Amino acid sequence: MPETFDQKIATTLADSRLQTAIYTATNRLISHRKAVVSADALPDYQELRTQANAVKAHTIENLDWYLEEFERNVLDHGGHVHWCRSAADVADVVLETAKRRGARMIVKSKSMTTEEVDLNERLEHHGLQSVESDFGEYIIQLMHTRPYHIVAPALHLTRYDVADLFERALGVPNDPVIENQCRTARGVLREKFLEADIGISGANFLIADSGAVTIVENEGNARLSTSAPKVHIAVAGIEKLIPRAQDLGTFLKLLGRSATGQPLTVYTSFLAGPKRSGEVDGPEEFHVVLLDGGRTKLLADPEKRESLYCIRCGACLNHCPVYRKIGGHSFPWVYSGPIGAILTPQFVGVENAPQLPFASSLCGACAEVCPVKIDIPKILLELRAEVKTAEKQNGENQLERAAFSAFAYMAVRPKLWARALGFGRKLPIPPVGPVAAWLSEREMPKLPAKSFRELWKQRKSA
Ligand code: SF4
Repeated sequence: MPETFDQKIATTLADSRLQTAIYTATNRLISHRKAVVSADALPDYQELRTQANAVKAHTIENLDWYLEEFERNVLDHGGHVHWCRSAADVADVVLETAKRRGARMIVKSKSMTTEEVDLNERLEHHGLQSVESDFGEYIIQLMHTRPYHIVAPALHLTRYDVADLFERALGVPNDPVIENQCRTARGVLREKFLEADIGISGANFLIADSGAVTIVENEGNARLSTSAPKVHIAVAGIEKLIPRAQDLGTFLKLLGRSATGQPLTVYTSFLAGPKRSGEVDGPEEFHVVLLDGGRTKLLADPEKRESLYCIRCGACLNHCPVYRKIGGHSFPWVYSGPIGAILTPQFVGVENAPQLPFASSLCGACAEVCPVKIDIPKILLELRAEVKTAEKQNGENQLERAAFSAFAYMAVRPKLWARALGFGRKLPIPPVGPVAAWLSEREMPKLPAKSFRELWKQRKSA
């Protein structure tokens, strides 16, 4: 039986090696980001965030318009656009293309949207080989697991873990030197790029006024995946649109800095259509697959639709005290951390992930670092209210509701409240149920000799 959310958390907390790996990696990302968004390094950082938020808000509110403009421009450049409602629709587009081209081998560059639709598994089920070409994703694929973090998929692994994995999976000598591990992966992947019939990528941005797909990366594998094979298929959620190429300046300044602390990623690719006549490089076919996957439902919600502004930088994960303790695999779906806690319940239904809106201390660090200013704590509270309303309708958690009703009753009756507090101070707290769980990690502070009210009364009468 698969582990529950609580069991996965307990396993992660008990693993000191894993705790160190998560803490070290997120710490590094935090300090790299801090150095490049400081007032000295980027004086207009806050203005850029405000601008990015405004562009996203405008785009999401006019998404139908910009999607159609984007489609027209892709078609004008000789590309194809596929509108997909579900994961199965995305797989169908790739499978039909593979069948028509007689393709067997696919190389993929990193894409959370394809993780979202389990694309590799679906393609492999139909006899296609789909190989991840990003170093972290390649490691994760060899482990038959899913990314631990939206930017750093293998964040939880040490170089010794990777050495063991490569020895087991690739039959190479156990070598913990990272450069040698990269060389090994590069050797395997180079062959795959040459062999591949189709390259699949994600998209960081879709630009409406030019019909271009923008991809940022550090390894150059996305460039190879999108230009070496004869067919390129870019898979993207419909929210990845931005109106104009000139808006990119704002987002590119924020994305690399927020994700890895780089002023700009090593490669930024603009892909618009198949190769033109006379060009040497580029695919013969260019497809853009636009995925709904629950996004239009979110669009209809004026309170929470800002969740769609996310540019998947991962900064909220790195700064979240909860993610840094419970890690990425405790979360039930591909998106983890604060953004996972708001996206997953909205994409798969709150009834299927009711614990996620509560996986937060509401400290606000996520909102403070988010480059597009998504108010994650506000959305978490709204989702919590939805979970509690559903529990009420289903008659669940009656004890908790009774306790809060009693609290609410007393909290608006000062005299009753004062008497209850005075009485409560004398009662021993039984270490059972939730109290025992709370005390298992903490010490109960000693009550002062006099309560605040008693001290206040004393002071006023003095
Ligand atoms: S919610 Fe904001 S901080 Fe978190 S991944 Fe998305 S853009 Fe980055």
